[in-house]
Amino acid sequence: QPTDRHPRPQRRLGVMGGTFDPIHHGHLVAASEVAASFDLDEVIFVPTGQPWQKSGRDVSPAEHRYLMTVIATASNPRFTVSRVDIDRHKTTYTVDTLRDLKAQYPDDELYFITGADALGSILSWQDWQSLFELARFVGVSRPGYDLHAEHLAPHLDDLPAEAVTLVEIPALAISSTDCRTRVREHRPVWYLVPDGVVQYINKHRLYLPDPHPGGESA
Ligand code: ATP
Ligand code: MG
Repeated sequence: QPTDRHPRPQRRLGVMGGTFDPIHHGHLVAASEVAASFDLDEVIFVPTGQPWQKSGRDVSPAEHRYLMTVIATASNPRFTVSRVDIDRHKTTYTVDTLRDLKAQYPDDELYFITGADALGSILSWQDWQSLFELARFVGVSRPGYDLHAEHLAPHLDDLPAEAVTLVEIPALAISSTDCRTRVREHRPVWYLVPDGVVQYINKHRLYLPDPHPGGESA
């Protein structure tokens, strides 16, 4: 078989997991910066499955978060979006995301991209051993969070150097939480999220107070 004699060259795939409720320019800059520093062939954005709640609030339906992610990434030929976490219909664990993508791309090398805030929690309560067998981890700086190894997880210094790399990226003090608050308070989110995402939010009336609290929708 020609495919045996000429295996596809190993590609480097970034994996950018997130709730993306909504996706914003902080996510896009993080992906773009890591893609450039690690010479990635592609960055796969992976919106999380529908959690029952995230820190005490309801998360928007997965299809809205998925479509906003598609809209935000559509113009970049190296950005794609995966439904693996959404279609699993369970709480998302990074290890499941990476196993599914590894099964889909067995020949490629995975780089899991995460902000300084999320890296610490992923590494502190999930099984490190399995995570590092599946991917390299790239932690990016985020305003308000400390990117230094000793704050992220104990014993991070004992790991092989390539397991976790910390990267300083341009500081964008943008969060999805702030974007949702702005929409609710009728303040602008222009230039914090891509134009198409602003339009999608308005079209579907996302993040506005429920006009019929306790109404028939239950
Ligand atoms: P929320 O406020 O709802 O938690 P968020 O802005 O933190 O939203 P997430 O979807 O939770 O966005 O984050 C997905 C990933 O992107 C995480 O790894 C997070 O650390 C990273 N990230 C989010 N915003 C930034 C930012 N402004 N700079 C760098 N990394 C970011
Ligand atoms: Mg977050």
